[in-house]
Amino acid sequence: MQKVTLTKSLKKILVNHARINSPNESSAILFGVNNNDNAIVKEVYLAENIEKSPVRFTISNEQLIDAYRTAERKKMDVIAIFHSHPASSAVPSSTDKKFMKVNPVVWIIYSVSAEEFRSYVLDNEVQEILTEFL
Ligand SMILES: [Zn+2]
Repeated sequence: MQKVTLTKSLKKILVNHARINSPNESSAILFGVNNNDNAIVKEVYLAENIEKSPVRFTISNEQLIDAYRTAERKKMDVIAIFHSHPASSAVPSSTDKKFMKVNPVVWIIYSVSAEEFRSYVLDNEVQEILTEFL
């Protein structure tokens, strides 16, 4: 995977979700298609951070199951996980890196303070990929 693509309207939804949940982290599950080396996001499923923490996030099993079922019904795949960092840069924390091993999809992080999106994949090591907005 080399690039993740989102529309500007999906970007707006995610920024809004992150701002509303600040100072806690927010999260979302992103549906779409993987086209060669490009993950194309088509829809976002806004999830609740049940930890209500400014430095961690957890999505409930119920919401995870519902998200996967919704994606399947819409004939899409879960291609990325989104979460926000309210007060730090859009770089994976050590906890994020640990969970990237469990969820090997594209990880998109939005820094509320820096107003910046950055995306990563785990490929032996954590690698940053391009985040594109159309
Ligand atoms: Zn994080």
